Amino acid sequence: MVREILIYPHEMLTKPTQEVDVIDNEVRGLIRDMFDTMREAEGVGLAANQIGVPLSVMVIDTTPKEEVPPVKLVLINPKLVKGEGKVKFKEGCLSFPGLSVEVERFERVKLSALNEHGEPVEIELEGFPAIVFQHELDHLKGITFVDRLKGWRRRMALEKYKKILREVQKG
Ligand SMILES: [Zn+2]
Repeated sequence: MVREILIYPHEMLTKPTQEVDVIDNEVRGLIRDMFDTMREAEGVGLAANQIGVPLSVMVIDTTPKEEVPPVKLVLINPKLVKGEGKVKFKEGCLSFPGLSVEVERFERVKLSALNEHGEPVEIELEGFPAIVFQHELDHLKGITFVDRLKGWRRRMALEKYKKILREVQKG
Protein backbone atom coordinates (compact mmCIF):
# COMPACT_ATOMS: atom_id res chain seq x y z
CA MET A 1 0.00 0.00 0.00
CA VAL A 2 1.30 3.43 -0.94
CA ARG A 3 1.49 5.66 2.11
CA GLU A 4 1.85 9.40 2.46
CA ILE A 5 5.42 10.68 2.56
CA LEU A 6 5.95 13.22 5.32
CA ILE A 7 7.34 16.54 4.22
CA TYR A 8 9.93 18.55 6.15
CA PRO A 9 9.57 20.20 8.70
CA HIS A 10 7.32 17.39 10.02
CA GLU A 11 8.62 16.60 13.52
CA MET A 12 8.81 12.87 12.79
CA LEU A 13 11.73 13.66 10.46
CA THR A 14 13.76 15.31 13.20
CA LYS A 15 13.50 12.60 15.87
CA PRO A 16 15.59 9.42 16.08
CA THR A 17 13.80 6.14 15.40
CA GLN A 18 13.69 3.07 17.67
CA GLU A 19 15.30 -0.28 17.03
CA VAL A 20 13.07 -3.13 15.90
CA ASP A 21 12.83 -5.95 18.50
CA VAL A 22 10.77 -8.50 16.61
CA ILE A 23 10.25 -8.80 12.88
CA ASP A 24 6.57 -9.65 12.90
CA ASN A 25 3.76 -9.29 10.36
CA GLU A 26 3.47 -5.61 11.17
CA VAL A 27 7.12 -4.99 10.30
CA ARG A 28 6.83 -7.13 7.14
CA GLY A 29 3.76 -5.10 6.13
CA LEU A 30 5.68 -1.90 6.80
CA ILE A 31 8.50 -3.07 4.51
CA ARG A 32 6.04 -3.86 1.70
CA ASP A 33 4.41 -0.44 2.09
CA MET A 34 7.83 1.23 2.06
CA PHE A 35 8.70 -0.41 -1.27
CA ASP A 36 5.29 0.51 -2.73
CA THR A 37 5.64 4.11 -1.56
CA MET A 38 9.25 4.48 -2.72
CA ARG A 39 8.49 3.07 -6.18
CA GLU A 40 5.45 5.24 -6.71
CA ALA A 41 7.52 8.30 -5.78
CA GLU A 42 10.36 7.05 -8.02
CA GLY A 43 12.75 7.25 -5.09
CA VAL A 44 15.85 5.13 -4.54
CA GLY A 45 15.66 4.92 -0.74
CA LEU A 46 13.16 5.42 2.05
CA ALA A 47 13.33 5.47 5.85
CA ALA A 48 10.35 4.29 7.92
CA ASN A 49 9.94 7.63 9.71
CA GLN A 50 9.39 9.28 6.31
CA ILE A 51 6.01 7.52 6.26
CA GLY A 52 5.36 8.19 9.93
CA VAL A 53 6.63 4.97 11.54
CA PRO A 54 9.41 5.67 14.07
CA LEU A 55 11.27 2.37 13.59
CA SER A 56 14.82 1.76 12.40
CA VAL A 57 14.00 0.32 8.98
CA MET A 58 15.17 1.44 5.54
CA VAL A 59 14.70 0.20 2.01
CA ILE A 60 16.97 0.87 -0.95
CA ASP A 61 16.36 0.16 -4.62
CA THR A 62 18.65 1.95 -7.05
CA THR A 63 16.80 0.68 -10.15
CA PRO A 64 15.50 4.15 -11.20
CA LYS A 65 18.98 5.72 -11.11
CA GLU A 66 21.46 3.07 -11.99
CA GLU A 67 22.67 0.69 -14.57
CA VAL A 68 22.73 -3.02 -13.84
CA PRO A 69 22.89 -4.56 -11.40
CA PRO A 70 20.68 -2.45 -9.14
CA VAL A 71 21.18 -2.59 -5.39
CA LYS A 72 18.02 -3.65 -3.58
CA LEU A 73 18.12 -3.91 0.21
CA VAL A 74 15.96 -4.10 3.30
CA LEU A 75 17.99 -2.98 6.32
CA ILE A 76 16.66 -3.25 9.86
CA ASN A 77 18.55 -1.59 12.74
CA PRO A 78 21.37 -0.62 10.34
CA LYS A 79 24.73 0.63 11.63
CA LEU A 80 27.70 2.16 9.88
CA VAL A 81 30.70 -0.07 10.65
CA LYS A 82 33.29 1.71 8.54
CA GLY A 83 33.45 4.61 6.09
CA GLU A 84 36.27 5.40 3.68
CA GLY A 85 37.00 8.12 1.17
CA LYS A 86 35.03 11.29 0.53
CA VAL A 87 32.62 12.06 -2.26
CA LYS A 88 30.39 15.05 -2.99
CA PHE A 89 27.06 14.39 -4.63
CA LYS A 90 23.94 16.43 -5.33
CA GLU A 91 21.23 14.64 -3.37
CA GLY A 92 17.47 14.87 -3.49
CA CYS A 93 15.04 13.79 -0.79
CA LEU A 94 11.41 12.65 -1.02
CA SER A 95 10.70 14.67 2.16
CA PHE A 96 12.07 17.87 0.53
CA PRO A 97 10.25 17.96 -2.81
CA GLY A 98 12.07 20.05 -5.40
CA LEU A 99 15.24 20.62 -3.39
CA SER A 100 18.66 19.19 -4.17
CA VAL A 101 21.82 19.96 -2.22
CA GLU A 102 25.42 18.88 -2.50
CA VAL A 103 26.46 16.80 0.49
CA GLU A 104 29.79 15.21 1.37
CA ARG A 105 29.63 11.50 2.21
CA PHE A 106 31.90 8.48 2.51
CA GLU A 107 32.66 6.92 -0.85
CA ARG A 108 32.67 3.38 0.52
CA VAL A 109 30.88 2.02 3.57
CA LYS A 110 30.67 -1.18 5.47
CA LEU A 111 27.39 -1.64 7.30
CA SER A 112 25.77 -4.13 9.59
CA ALA A 113 22.03 -4.72 9.91
CA LEU A 114 19.34 -7.36 10.06
CA ASN A 115 17.72 -8.40 6.80
CA GLU A 116 13.96 -8.91 6.40
CA HIS A 117 14.31 -12.46 7.80
CA GLY A 118 16.00 -11.17 10.95
CA GLU A 119 19.41 -12.51 9.95
CA PRO A 120 22.46 -10.36 10.70
CA VAL A 121 24.22 -9.17 7.55
CA GLU A 122 27.39 -7.21 6.81
CA ILE A 123 27.42 -5.43 3.48
CA GLU A 124 29.94 -3.25 1.65
CA LEU A 125 28.65 -0.54 -0.66
CA GLU A 126 30.47 1.86 -2.94
CA GLY A 127 29.47 4.97 -4.88
CA PHE A 128 25.78 5.77 -5.38
CA PRO A 129 24.32 2.98 -3.20
CA ALA A 130 26.72 3.98 -0.39
CA ILE A 131 25.44 7.57 -0.62
CA VAL A 132 21.81 6.41 -0.52
CA PHE A 133 22.56 4.29 2.54
CA GLN A 134 24.14 7.21 4.42
CA HIS A 135 21.23 9.52 3.50
CA GLU A 136 18.68 7.01 4.83
CA LEU A 137 20.76 6.22 7.92
CA ASP A 138 20.68 9.93 8.74
CA HIS A 139 16.88 9.90 8.43
CA LEU A 140 16.71 7.08 10.97
CA LYS A 141 18.72 9.26 13.37
CA GLY A 142 16.44 12.25 12.82
CA ILE A 143 18.97 14.02 10.61
CA THR A 144 18.07 15.42 7.19
CA PHE A 145 20.44 16.32 4.35
CA VAL A 146 20.24 20.05 5.11
CA ASP A 147 21.62 19.27 8.58
CA ARG A 148 24.77 18.08 6.77
CA LEU A 149 25.29 21.64 5.52
CA LYS A 150 26.84 24.34 7.66
CA GLY A 151 26.36 28.08 8.07
CA TRP A 152 25.20 30.01 5.02
CA ARG A 153 24.90 26.90 2.85
CA ARG A 154 22.31 25.52 5.25
CA ARG A 155 20.48 28.85 5.45
CA MET A 156 20.45 29.19 1.65
CA ALA A 157 19.10 25.65 1.20
CA LEU A 158 16.31 26.22 3.74
CA GLU A 159 15.41 29.57 2.15
CA LYS A 160 15.22 27.95 -1.26
CA TYR A 161 13.10 25.13 0.14
CA LYS A 162 10.67 27.59 1.77
CA LYS A 163 10.29 29.29 -1.59
CA ILE A 164 9.59 25.95 -3.30
CA LEU A 165 6.96 25.09 -0.66
CA ARG A 166 5.26 28.45 -1.13
CA GLU A 167 5.11 27.92 -4.91
CA VAL A 168 3.65 24.41 -4.40
CA GLN A 169 1.01 25.75 -1.99
CA LYS A 170 0.02 28.45 -4.44
CA GLY A 171 -0.50 25.69 -6.99
ZN1 LIG B 1 15.62 11.75 2.30
